[in-house]
Amino acid sequence: MTQRASQLSPQPMDALWMPYTANRQFKSAPRMITGAQGNYLIDDSGRKIFDGLSGLWTCGAGHNRPEITEAVAKQLATLDYAPAFQYGHNLAFELAERLAAMAPSDINKVFFTNSGSEAADTATKMARAYWRQQGQPTKTRIIGRAKGYHGASWGGISFGGIGANRKMWGPAMESDHLSHTLLPQNAFSEGIPAQGANLADELIEMVALHDASNIAAVIVEPMSGSAGVIVPPAGYLKRLRQLCDEHDILLIFDEVITGFGRTGDLFGANTFDVVPDMINVAKQLTNGAIPMGAVLTRQFIYDTVVDAGGAPYNIELPHGYTYSGHPVACAAAMASLDILEQEKLVARVAELSPYFEQGVHSLKGMPFINDIRNLGFAAGFTIESYPGEPARRPFELAMKLLEKGFYVRYGGDTLQLGIPFTTEKSEIDALINAMQDTLMDAH
Ligand code: PLP
Repeated sequence: MTQRASQLSPQPMDALWMPYTANRQFKSAPRMITGAQGNYLIDDSGRKIFDGLSGLWTCGAGHNRPEITEAVAKQLATLDYAPAFQYGHNLAFELAERLAAMAPSDINKVFFTNSGSEAADTATKMARAYWRQQGQPTKTRIIGRAKGYHGASWGGISFGGIGANRKMWGPAMESDHLSHTLLPQNAFSEGIPAQGANLADELIEMVALHDASNIAAVIVEPMSGSAGVIVPPAGYLKRLRQLCDEHDILLIFDEVITGFGRTGDLFGANTFDVVPDMINVAKQLTNGAIPMGAVLTRQFIYDTVVDAGGAPYNIELPHGYTYSGHPVACAAAMASLDILEQEKLVARVAELSPYFEQGVHSLKGMPFINDIRNLGFAAGFTIESYPGEPARRPFELAMKLLEKGFYVRYGGDTLQLGIPFTTEKSEIDALINAMQDTLMDAH
């Protein structure tokens, strides 16, 4: 048995059940963050730790940005909360207009949530509502993709495709899954891999199996982040779009990680030149400072649902959250988007991503590195497993890196990087050197 954490630390740790965390391991050797500044986290010994995942893909503009702090403080002192249902406040409308203008093509309606999980539920509920109001209420099934991550809600774990997140819970929403696109022939591809666009054709088999009359939507991340930065093959997303059009299936891009700069474009949709019917965002929307997500949809989805609303006092879509469009979250988002624009951070990611790419791929041939993948300021490494223990070595390597002052993500058999958009070349060098030393030492 592990010792009671309260015997090890001045801070009792018994009460908190930590999310997506190995609670026993953590409480036996806590990793406590006490502050943050710019591209660094600060731990309880005062050590600066390079934030190699921008928080949890959240803080691309760096931590503790005074512009966001000031906007949040001002908003809290002006309007701390406005009822989200049947009442409005200016900032929610202003932010929605801004997001609509940023989104590709005719994606111009914005529904606010508080998280990526809620965005996944919201988008798929909208898809069902849309088909129902189109007179096709049997179109309910959602097709996701193996290794996809869409959050921890019942929806998210149903059409999500990470086995470990699903196995505990039994049936929830009716879903099915396309194959993932992690192909051995694409190992060590730099950027977008060449092989495998034909995997999108599996949607034809799904249609044969379930019939399009029973399928509401396909949901995929343009680049799967949580499963270890899996970049889709060239042409794959275009083919998926084409097949969704042919079979009257809505296409949802979950851009909770890729939205607002991670790929070197505003959206993954731009990177892959594909316009989905809905885009889910969260994380970078407020630079992680305040929880907020959103679903951005095309005009026709809104029109169909709203036009079928009946009497004008009827609620057309009985869905929403107490904190949808929270004024303080809106203020954080506006300030965060200002920073992205003023500091041209998206262009910065695009400009520096070849340097980052070169750095991460320089680790090819190092011990335990079975694959390296990258896009923009994101990279994933498949790590050679201990027999029967795929998750162990990534954890061990991440702990060694932490000792050296670098926070990276470990998940499944992968290590993941999502460096801040504000990262300097020297910081990329330091991170890659630390990874190299760690791999060599562990050998
Ligand atoms: N969708 C994607 C692509 C994500 O990466 C995440 C979180 O990592 C989510 C959804 C869930 O977001 P949240 O944890 O805010 O509910």
